[in-house]
Amino acid sequence: MEKSADRPNKKKVVAVVGGGLVGALNACFFAKRGFDVEVFETRDDIRTAKVVKGRSINLALSHRGRQSLKSVGMEDKIVSNGIPMNARMIHSPNGKQSPIPYGKKGQYILSVDRANLNKELLTAAETYPNTKLNFDHKLQDWSPETGLMTFVRPDGSLEEIKADLIVGCDGAFSAIRKQFLRRSRFNYSQTYIPHGYMELTMPPINGEFAMKPNYLHIWPRNTFMMIALPNLDKTFTCTLFMPFEEFEKITTGDEVMEFFQKYFPDAIPLIGVDALKRDYFRLPAQAMVSVKCSPYHIGDKCVLMGDAAHAVVPFYGQGMNAGFEDCIVFDEIMDQLNEDFSAVLPEYTRVRVPDDHAIADLAMYNYIEMRAHVNSKWFLFRKNVDDILHFLMPGTIIPLYTMASTFVTFTRTRYHQAVELWHWQDRVINRGLLFCATGALLGGSYLLVKNPPDINKLSIPAEKLWNRLLAVWTT
Ligand SMILES: Cc1cc2nc3c(=O)[nH]c(=O)nc-3n(C[C@H](O)[C@H](O)[C@H](O)COP(=O)(O)OP(=O)(O)OC[C@H]3O[C@@H](n4cnc5c(N)ncnc54)[C@H](O)[C@@H]3O)c2cc1C
Repeated sequence: MEKSADRPNKKKVVAVVGGGLVGALNACFFAKRGFDVEVFETRDDIRTAKVVKGRSINLALSHRGRQSLKSVGMEDKIVSNGIPMNARMIHSPNGKQSPIPYGKKGQYILSVDRANLNKELLTAAETYPNTKLNFDHKLQDWSPETGLMTFVRPDGSLEEIKADLIVGCDGAFSAIRKQFLRRSRFNYSQTYIPHGYMELTMPPINGEFAMKPNYLHIWPRNTFMMIALPNLDKTFTCTLFMPFEEFEKITTGDEVMEFFQKYFPDAIPLIGVDALKRDYFRLPAQAMVSVKCSPYHIGDKCVLMGDAAHAVVPFYGQGMNAGFEDCIVFDEIMDQLNEDFSAVLPEYTRVRVPDDHAIADLAMYNYIEMRAHVNSKWFLFRKNVDDILHFLMPGTIIPLYTMASTFVTFTRTRYHQAVELWHWQDRVINRGLLFCATGALLGGSYLLVKNPPDINKLSIPAEKLWNRLLAVWTT
């Protein structure tokens, strides 16, 4: 490749490392601005590869992702290949199904095929004459001082390439990020959650979807859950989320059936007994990691985006959407600061880190809520209070799960602002409840002092009553 130093009059070279979802979209953003864009992807070209390895088969695309696609003229194409999901469909253990709409009437998220989305974005990037896609290029190392990158080719040979700006879009286990870790004042944390996930396919029945297609189906079962998203070929991809130790307890086909019979009986005839017994053992459960770091840049040479900057657990359906939003935020800052990398990169870190950290926290909160809080009486009580207050003051109080739909899923309100609003609301409601409880206690005590009851006639002894109260507040 021609080195940028050899062509002073031409546009700068931007190397996008990683040709996954965020890398391919980012290539379009940089190409649109006229940079010479080189994408380096470790895998073969997925558009021609026979086997495509990777994570979840389909993904939920929402407003932030759509806005980013729209900026590069790809929204309509991707939306036309997606399946609208207007609501969640909750499956109870007894087979009862109850829909919970996402946002306002008419709002929906889309189920999109990951591989198809990636292929479309690579093709879109390639249509720019100033973009080149380099497959089978695995980044091994790079220099923050010179921008010189070393790639390993499938035959083991090394290739050295230089760029003016390196954009690290190489996923949760980013090789680009390794250089950041060697530097002082780089904050980094990584948390594996105890749950893993496994995908199972629910085939069509008589050529039609086995369940209602325009829903994200959810089987919540306290410490674990299953979800199902529809695909264009009329299958559903079911994803079972469960602690690794539970996955490992199931070792035979009969145990799989026993487990499904107990927790997901309505899914058995839809997935099929033979398929369940076979597919459960096809691949081991996959791990999920949450990664947070800061800053996202080194000087004017390198910037991290997508999972390379912030892998989030998938319980808010926002990982890709946040990664796509990274691209549009960067693009907006490029406009504001005249494409001056030395100003754009620190500004991007300043603006984006709090938002990505907020969505990482929200996703983790949802994971914990799903796992633990659903059993807590205090949590259920608070949820009911939130609902009543929202009914009375719809403009002021928004329950967290509605807030998710309203701000996180259907707007570009900054993630950290949505979280701040939630914390503020939580404080106000808790103080209000404390105030009411104190008032009730004082009022009750006053009435008791004024009209003391005959202690012998009390049906529940005071000590028992106190113990019951304690139990409610501590579970
Ligand atoms: C089970 C599950 C369900 C999910 N569901 C949703 C959802 O519904 N909605 C949503 O928004 N998000 C979802 N996500 C998150 C989403 O998958 C990620 O946020 C998204 O894939 C991030 O895209 P990316 O391009 O940053 O990283 P990746 O998709 O990981 O792509 C990184 C690319 O870099 C390449 N690469 C890696 N190392 C190198 C190297 N050394 N040199 C060159 N190339 C390299 C890889 O081959 C890959 O192509 C889900 C995640 C999981 C695990």
